[in-house]
Amino acid sequence: MSGIIVPGSRAGSAEMLLKLAERKSGQIGVMIAGVRLLVVEDEPKSAAYLCKGLSEHGYVADTANNGEDGLFMAKNSEYDLLILDVMLPRRDGWSVISDLRRAGKQTPVIFLTARDAVPDRVKGLELGADDYLIKPFAFSELLARIRTILRRGPVQQSDIFRIAGLELDSKSHKAFRAGKRLDLTPKEFLLLALFVRHPGEVLSRTLIADQVWDMNFDCGTNVVDVHVRRLRSKVDDPFERKLIHTVRGVGYVFEE
Ligand code: CA
Repeated sequence: MSGIIVPGSRAGSAEMLLKLAERKSGQIGVMIAGVRLLVVEDEPKSAAYLCKGLSEHGYVADTANNGEDGLFMAKNSEYDLLILDVMLPRRDGWSVISDLRRAGKQTPVIFLTARDAVPDRVKGLELGADDYLIKPFAFSELLARIRTILRRGPVQQSDIFRIAGLELDSKSHKAFRAGKRLDLTPKEFLLLALFVRHPGEVLSRTLIADQVWDMNFDCGTNVVDVHVRRLRSKVDDPFERKLIHTVRGVGYVFEE
């Protein structure tokens, strides 16, 4: 079952991360069960302080030192919570959370910022932040906020993706478009789940083959094209508005 990515599924993302870890290090990685946090902070001292404190309290914390990397990590793996600085190189915290929410990720976010102006605070909350902490802050306060958010439990919607009139339930493996149940095979469901998780992004055949079939894309096989065609016949053919588009010479993109 390796290589399967199911939205909102911890097992699926753990598989993916394990695979990534194995590829990077050439070794078998070990997944640590527990709460996983992502700290996106560009000041090295501050990031190190946060990570040290969090790990002392039993949290597993990854770090990113710029907004672009932070967004990539937050989109492509499952974190229980993000601690996000606002002023970041390459992409600011506002843009990270906007993109994350647009991609359907409901991971809770605590903003950290030196800016304490009311408009900023309101902006953060409007964009979907769960809380806001003004620097400098006491570590105990951060811990209290983290616990409060985690106590709320997983976001209810995280098992269900709704986008462009499509609805995917990753628990029951059911998919609907315009309220009608789509009769998908397990591979087609995974393929659609991959598209839905990356709206507007061009997905290469190599990436699709790797993530859905756990295999290297070999030019001699047209398995990806065949499955995309079948998926389209169910998802797009009965409807006027097409969602899955071919990008010539590259792959496919899911967008309205
Ligand atoms: Ca900063």
